[in-house]
Amino acid sequence: MTPSGEQLAYTDAYARSIQARVASVETGDATLVVLDRTVFYPGGGGQPSDRGLIIRAADGRSWTVVGARKVDGEIVHELEPGVDPPTRGDLVQVDLEWARRLALMRTHTALHALCGVVWRDYGALVTGGNMEPGSGRMDFEFETMSGDLVGEIEAKVNDELHASRDVRVNVVPRDEAFAIPDLIRTKVNLLPPGIAEVRTIEIVGLDLQADGGTHVANTREVGGIHVTGYESKGRINKRIRIELTD
Ligand SMILES: [Zn+2]
Repeated sequence: MTPSGEQLAYTDAYARSIQARVASVETGDATLVVLDRTVFYPGGGGQPSDRGLIIRAADGRSWTVVGARKVDGEIVHELEPGVDPPTRGDLVQVDLEWARRLALMRTHTALHALCGVVWRDYGALVTGGNMEPGSGRMDFEFETMSGDLVGEIEAKVNDELHASRDVRVNVVPRDEAFAIPDLIRTKVNLLPPGIAEVRTIEIVGLDLQADGGTHVANTREVGGIHVTGYESKGRINKRIRIELTD
């Protein structure tokens, strides 16, 4: 297997464009392109993959990237169907659909702030979550949920977001990660045994989770949230839906 290309989404969430070489092209049901470096996030942890464009330097021809995913450690870009793909070795510019990505970063950080508040003040574990640009949902191990309670949670999350807390990405050795009590609630123990390092996202003073996604650098960039609904997903599972307010 060829070595994985450079994957900037994990180290610099604000990188929205980069020059790259086409490393491989596969045609079939879908046209799949691997680059020697990319700014695309391949999806995972409830955050959808990016969309964007690949533009060839030689002639300005562009291709729409409709999605991305990780295959054997490589980030694979899926092109719009039915196109003549670029060629291996082509020099290209890789551009994210930035408004969408930034909305996903703000939404993802908002969901972590929600997790942080619910864990700190109610001791409830997260059991799942998902997001779209600007809105998302999380499931928690709550026995009961009420309009009063979600109103209280909403106000607390907004206080934390407005507190301008820094959001940090860290990569820690697996053993060290297992020694951080807070990480257990996000089921770090379910990580595959082969993983030597764990990437964590820390909202300083509020929340620490093992996470592969992209986040804003400070909670003030999220703005505020509104709880749009809550529902029961089983005896001890309750779902909270949020959207960004600006
Ligand atoms: Zn996350």
